[in-house]
Amino acid sequence: MELAHRMTALTGDGSDGWDVFYKARALKKQGHPIIELTIGEHDIHTHVDILAAMGRSARGGHTGYAAVPGTEGLRTAISRRIEQQSGLPTTQDNILITPGGQSALFAAHMAVLNPGDIALYCDPYYATYPGTIRGTGALDRAILCDPAYDFQPQATDLEAAARGARSLLVNSPNNPTGVVYDRATWEAIAQTCIAHDLWLISDEVYDTQVWQGAHISPRSLNGMQERTLVIGSMSKSHAMTGSRIGWICGPVGVIEHLTNFATHTTYGVPGFIQDAAQFALSQGQALEDEVAAPFRRRRRIALDLIAQQNLLRAVPCSGAMYLMLDIRATGLSGEAFAHALLDAHQIAVMPGESFGQAAAGHIRVAMTVADDHFTKALTDLLSFAAEFDENKRRF
Ligand code: PLP
Repeated sequence: MELAHRMTALTGDGSDGWDVFYKARALKKQGHPIIELTIGEHDIHTHVDILAAMGRSARGGHTGYAAVPGTEGLRTAISRRIEQQSGLPTTQDNILITPGGQSALFAAHMAVLNPGDIALYCDPYYATYPGTIRGTGALDRAILCDPAYDFQPQATDLEAAARGARSLLVNSPNNPTGVVYDRATWEAIAQTCIAHDLWLISDEVYDTQVWQGAHISPRSLNGMQERTLVIGSMSKSHAMTGSRIGWICGPVGVIEHLTNFATHTTYGVPGFIQDAAQFALSQGQALEDEVAAPFRRRRRIALDLIAQQNLLRAVPCSGAMYLMLDIRATGLSGEAFAHALLDAHQIAVMPGESFGQAAAGHIRVAMTVADDHFTKALTDLLSFAAEFDENKRRF
């Protein structure tokens, strides 16, 4: 029996650049001491107080069907947080609770795309983006972002891609590059969306992890409120990846339709998870800072180590839990480098090629292991890279 094209076309053809990741996982399973600097999973667990709140709620009976758009308490807490950050009036009617940011990304695209529409996203990209768009029946189109501009999309490229398109998906702080878009980039994005009547889907799941500069939510820019859907999540901000809880913030009319969509797909999110999320948000920035602190520390460790050599260049790591390194001076592709590093030192990193074409010749290092392991891994990685430099000079 033949499956629907929308299902079989979710992942592209050929190598998806995740071979190193699977190889590292297999080696680890066999008992090899692999240091995994691959995926965006914290090395801490969800805070015990959040788990206690979850337990209290579940034992208190919040285990039945919860309101489909989300509990009033959580929607209000999220709308207040967004209002404080963006300065824009925001109420619970602007919020739909979803089972994680990924589900929010899919629902947001479903809301604005018809089959055959062109949907834009920036390359390098978070691995699910093209499939999320294809899953709606729309056509995914990448905008290549040049490492020379620290992977921030440029006005001319946005303008060229926008003709005939219907939506644009952006992500800042960015996975995989660790770049936080600056105001000029946001102005160019907003101008393009307004000029070409595009919906903007702004993935802000790393908004609590900003090391340098400031997070700007494009919904707050002139003329953008009615065309922007913001994607949020508790995964990264509160180490709640397994709880699967996120949201969409958008115009009231869109949220009403998305609630209808949720009724026909997820039928909401467990009430005790929502209560735990509400409790977590009630702890304010102190808890968000606590969860972000290890990455802030490790970024400093990494930048200090990188400053001691001049072979690998770090893409300015202004946010998120990743460090993108330009390894082109070794003469290797990101994929070849990552495989060789895994074989030689049992350190697993992601090749830039896993995130599209634009990050070829780069590797992404997730800063997700304890400081001492991280320091050792990065020291080994840098001296491993230096071997290639010396080889080059020798031959
Ligand atoms: N967006 C980006 C950029 C991500 O990196 C991730 C997860 O790594 C997600 C969305 C999805 O997060 P979740 O579904 O856990 O909220």
